[in-house]
Amino acid sequence: MDAAEFRRRGKEMVDYMANYLANIEQRPVYPDVKPGYLRSLIPTEAPLEPENYEDVIKDVERVIMPGVTHWHSPYFYAYFPTASSYPAMLADMLCGAIGGMGFTWASNPVITELEIVMLDWLGKMLKLPEHFIAGTHGQGGGVIQSTASEATLMSVLAARCKAIQQVQASNPGQSEAEILPKLVAYTSEQAHSSVERASLIGGVLMKKVPTDDNYAVGGGMFKKMLEEDKAAGLIPFYLCATLGTTPSCGFDHITELGPICNKENMWMHIDAAYAGSAFICPEFRPLLNGVEFADSFNFNPHKWLLTNFDCSTIYNHSSLLQNWQIPHGRRFRSLKLWFVFRMYGIQGLQAHIRKQVALAKEFESLVRADKRFEICAEVIMGLVCFRLKGSNQLTELLLKRITESREIHLVPCHLSGRFVLRFAICARTTDSRHIQQAWRHITQLERVKAEILRLHLH
Ligand code: PLP
Repeated sequence: MDAAEFRRRGKEMVDYMANYLANIEQRPVYPDVKPGYLRSLIPTEAPLEPENYEDVIKDVERVIMPGVTHWHSPYFYAYFPTASSYPAMLADMLCGAIGGMGFTWASNPVITELEIVMLDWLGKMLKLPEHFIAGTHGQGGGVIQSTASEATLMSVLAARCKAIQQVQASNPGQSEAEILPKLVAYTSEQAHSSVERASLIGGVLMKKVPTDDNYAVGGGMFKKMLEEDKAAGLIPFYLCATLGTTPSCGFDHITELGPICNKENMWMHIDAAYAGSAFICPEFRPLLNGVEFADSFNFNPHKWLLTNFDCSTIYNHSSLLQNWQIPHGRRFRSLKLWFVFRMYGIQGLQAHIRKQVALAKEFESLVRADKRFEICAEVIMGLVCFRLKGSNQLTELLLKRITESREIHLVPCHLSGRFVLRFAICARTTDSRHIQQAWRHITQLERVKAEILRLHLH
């Protein structure tokens, strides 16, 4: 492909993308394929001779699209959102063209410089404490990682390193091998699986702290565990608190946890992968109070801030994490933040968050008005946890019908032993009419489910 053909094909591709997104509602949100579907559709080996672009693009609808879960369909309500916007997509195209690596300042000055400034813009949007802002002289600041999982791992490794140095400073004879088995990290029993994975990779023990009625960790239980562990000779060194837990969007009480961590000289990391974006709205910012006690804070603009995957930002108050990432190479990910911030403005981004929260509240009202159903956790942001009253079997069957229908897509979680459906407002284009339609669909299936259950019982 030469430059002339690239020009032509590029324009066609933009048309294809725009049409795909404009008509996405017409596609079943969830694919109707079985594992291994793709192998039979393509050759077993790469072609020896170059193929035509026409042949490749034809196969997008034949081979690729049948296996796509359409995350940007307004009928997609599963997991948490993954962000998407036209400015971010355009910036990613340009990033592809620039295509350089940014592993040091000298390797690509703009990659380092724009990233530092964009993370300052973002930090100021979130009203982060001054020590998280790089400014012109700052020690602290933010860097972009690929995912929250990587950010958490980085924080565990940094905290582990710091803890070992501290123990050795007061006990010079102790080796790392002697100290490591005594280190203990903590997180909520509701934390994302990536947090436990970080401790496994980091080779440190991690304990799960039980949560309160709102699925949040408070200071009382945490302190009790610390006292017991210290009495047993362990060294508590790290806490990963969550703001916006994956199952129910619960918020750990960081104003209680932070001072405990500071007093015990423990590293507090905050995982706000989903909810973090909402803190650009003054009405949600109080949920971030306590961040001043944290050593590191992470959230994913690629979840809720209209910036396509991947873009996970981690802030730290010293330069400790600035050079921390597993890969050597660095993509120019701040470019899409620059496009998004400028083309939406803070007000546009706030409007997006507020609209999605309002849609979640609208869905919550529909559920509350139907006495067959119950709400299972407080609705604070764009996630509604609900179920059918009665046995778990009823809701499990309902979800089976929903998944089979492929009209809407959602996934379950377990809360206090109950099987619960998570309804997350995901796509940028989701509107009230989609929410109303989704609820009509769920309640229709509920009737089918009741009939099936009756047949089973008789
Ligand atoms: N933390 C929380 C609270 C999450 O909800 C998720 C994913 O949904 C993650 C971490 C993992 O995010 P990532 O895919 O960026 O690693």
